[in-house]
Amino acid sequence: MEMHIQPDDNPILIQGIPAPIFRSKVLGNENLFCANCHFVLIEGYYPDTFLDVSIQCFTCHEVTSTPPLDAGEILPSTRLVVFPQGKYRIGGTIEYDPMIAVTTNSHLASHNAACAPNEAEFHLDLTPEGLSAVSERFSILSGRTSEMRRAELNRYHKAGRSGSTELPFDWSIWKLEKCVADGVIDVRDQETNVALGRLHVFAKADAMWKHHPRYMKVASEFSNPNSYFHTVGQFVLAAALFSKGLRIGFTIQEEYGHSKPDLYLKSAANKKFYLEFKTPRSLIWEKGTVHNDEAIRQNIRSILKNSSQINRSKPGGYVIMANTPDSGAAVSMKEHTVSFFKSKGWSKRHVAGAITMAYPAISGGLAGFEMPFAWSNVANEHYEDPENPFVQVI
Ligand SMILES: [Zn+2]
Repeated sequence: MEMHIQPDDNPILIQGIPAPIFRSKVLGNENLFCANCHFVLIEGYYPDTFLDVSIQCFTCHEVTSTPPLDAGEILPSTRLVVFPQGKYRIGGTIEYDPMIAVTTNSHLASHNAACAPNEAEFHLDLTPEGLSAVSERFSILSGRTSEMRRAELNRYHKAGRSGSTELPFDWSIWKLEKCVADGVIDVRDQETNVALGRLHVFAKADAMWKHHPRYMKVASEFSNPNSYFHTVGQFVLAAALFSKGLRIGFTIQEEYGHSKPDLYLKSAANKKFYLEFKTPRSLIWEKGTVHNDEAIRQNIRSILKNSSQINRSKPGGYVIMANTPDSGAAVSMKEHTVSFFKSKGWSKRHVAGAITMAYPAISGGLAGFEMPFAWSNVANEHYEDPENPFVQVI
C-alpha cells in the first residue's frame, strides 16, 4: 500500500504513544504503516473508511496521508466522522468500526461541491435562439448533431408518425419551434405541455449536474434515444434525494460485462445501497393515449417481479418513472407498487422497496414551474435487512 507524504493544511492526528492510533474492531485487513519508517499507524486498515486522513508517526514524526476518494465518488450520508482543521494528539489506541467513515472538513467540503447538484436559478428561454441553445447542448452530450437528429425525426414524419416516443427530445424541440414560430404557447394543449415539460426538465438537469465529475459519462447515454428518460430521470432523482440530505453516486463502470444498477447511496463507509432506474416505453406519453390503470398494473408488476439488477449481492430498490401529463398515473403507480409488495414482497427479500415518479404536467404557465414530479416511495416490509433506507430516509 503506497501512501503519499504531504499533509497540506489538513488536520493531523499525532500518534502520541508507541502503539497503533486506530485498531479495527473487524480484523483481517493489512495494516497501514508509516510511509517513512514503516511503524504501524492503523492496525487493520480499511481504505474505504479513512479518506484523506493524515497521521503523524510516533517514531519518526513524518506525516502519512490516506488517499482521498476518487473524483465523483460519494461519502456516506450517515456514519461519518469529520475532523476540523487542527492538530490532535491521540494518547492511546482508538478501536474503530470500519463502517464509520473518517475524513476531514476540507475533503467533505470539496466532495460536496463536486458531487452535489447546483441549485442555481434556471429559465427555459422560449425564443428561437433559446431553443437552439438547448438543442446545441443536447448535441454536445449525445454526440449527435441537430442536423442528424432532425433528419431522423423527418423520417418518422414521412412515415406518418410523430416520433414523440422514439425521439422524445427532438420531437419536443420541433414542437416548440413550431409554437414559437406561430406565436402560440398554450400549456392547455397536451402536446405543447409535454414538450415543454421535457425540455424544461432536460435543461434544468443539465444546469444542476454539468459540473459533476461523472456527468459527461452518464449524459453520453443521451446518444441512444431509447435511453432519454432513463438518463434524464436519474439526474432528477439524484437531485431530489440530495435535497433530502442523501448523497447519491452515479454508476459509470460495467462489471465483467454485466451492467450495474444505475445509482447508489452509501449507508456506511463500505456499504452501498443500489437504485435501478426503469422507464418502460408503455409509461411514456403519446398523443391519443388515455390513462390505463390495467396497463400500469401490468408494468409495475412485471418490473418488480422480473427485474434482476437488484439481488443478494446488490441490495437496493427500483425506481419506476412515467412521462405523462395525466395525474391519475402517479396514483395508479403507487397503488400497484403497494399491492405488489404486500402480496409478493416476501419473494423479493433483497429488494427494499420502490420509488415511483411521474413527470409533471405544467399548470399555470412556466413562471415558477420547477420540477413538481409526483413521487411515492413504498418500502417492502419483508426486506431482509432491518435497516431499510426506504423506511428511514428516502
Ligand atoms: Zn515513521
